[in-house]
Amino acid sequence: LLSLRGIRKSYGERLVLDGIDLDVDEHRCVVLVGASGSGKSTLLRVVNLLEEIDDGEILLDGQDVADPRLDANVVRARMGLVFQSYNLFPHMKVMDNVTLAPRLVHKRGRAEAEAAAEAMLRRVGLAHRMTAYPDQLSGGEQQRAAIARALVSSPELLLLDEVTSALDPELVGEVLDLLADLRAEGVTMLVATHEMGFAREVADEVCFLHQGRVHERGTPEQVLGDPQRERTREFLRRLR
Ligand code: ATP
Ligand code: MG
Repeated sequence: LLSLRGIRKSYGERLVLDGIDLDVDEHRCVVLVGASGSGKSTLLRVVNLLEEIDDGEILLDGQDVADPRLDANVVRARMGLVFQSYNLFPHMKVMDNVTLAPRLVHKRGRAEAEAAAEAMLRRVGLAHRMTAYPDQLSGGEQQRAAIARALVSSPELLLLDEVTSALDPELVGEVLDLLADLRAEGVTMLVATHEMGFAREVADEVCFLHQGRVHERGTPEQVLGDPQRERTREFLRRLR
């Protein structure tokens, strides 16, 4: 579904992505791990066309979507992106947050959009909170609502950037459980996380990023259980 080829990206003098090659096949979950500053968020933003790249190809179903002649919004509508925090519009009820993109981007009628939103909110366990405002929800509920909002437009690819790292520890589990369910349902995901337990259980492939490169990749058992490279071992040691 997604193939990145030789992605390079600098901020000024600083080379942040240094030739990234990565594939995410349909129904697969690829997890990006690595130290702070290794380039995980930048990579997700590049995929969502929020950052211009200096070199490389971003192929979605074989089509290079980095081509500036393409409409980035059309490409973005094929993906759902959820960040660490501030995903919901605070002045809008949960239901309105979730129906916004279907109505504005996908031009659905209100009834149709609300039916789809209700089904998705039910799916993430928030059917009873549809008329609440975001600040009336717990952090875990807010992130589940944000995931519902990303999924309601049936994106081909779900991009998740540290969706649990702003949550109180007791709320992390409910969001990770939801992601595990989505993975089991075959939702294609590219996920940046510091949660090695999640990576171990849910990833089909783990990519360890170091200084803007994929330093080591493989199954969770390989990369997290039996890392071959010293940087990976050091990273994992420091987490303990
Ligand atoms: P974390 O685990 O802390 O989220 P990360 O792996 O997501 O880290 P990135 O956010 O991708 O790392 O950042 C990679 C590098 O790029 C960092 O050195 C960061 O300071 C730099 N960087 C990120 N965004 C910008 C920006 N808009 N302008 C300049 N430098 C940036
Ligand atoms: Mg980040």
